[in-house]
Amino acid sequence: MTGSILIPCHRCGRQVQSSQVRDGRCLDCRVEVALEELRAEHARLWRKRERYRAKGANAESVGRQIAKTEDRMAERIRELVPNQEEAVEHLRKALEQARGARYDIRRS
Ligand SMILES: [Zn+2]
Repeated sequence: MTGSILIPCHRCGRQVQSSQVRDGRCLDCRVEVALEELRAEHARLWRKRERYRAKGANAESVGRQIAKTEDRMAERIRELVPNQEEAVEHLRKALEQARGARYDIRRS
């Protein structure tokens, strides 16, 4: 069984089944790399919405942009993760991180 051979992921160093590895990266890393751009976009929009809200401005359109970005994240995950349950789990984690990221942003 080729799937039982463990090889290290070049990005995170974890030992993963060779069948899960593409371009030297495990599935988790591939999802992370694929989402980097969208996550940055999500964070930017999230901060924008907070600024709008702080000013008492209407943040509805920004909210729609955030929802659209989350849809694109879901799409990208579905492209990479064929197993639906795993895809849902990846998306849940990605959204949790994206929505929680604002707490990590240091105000300088
Ligand atoms: Zn990895």
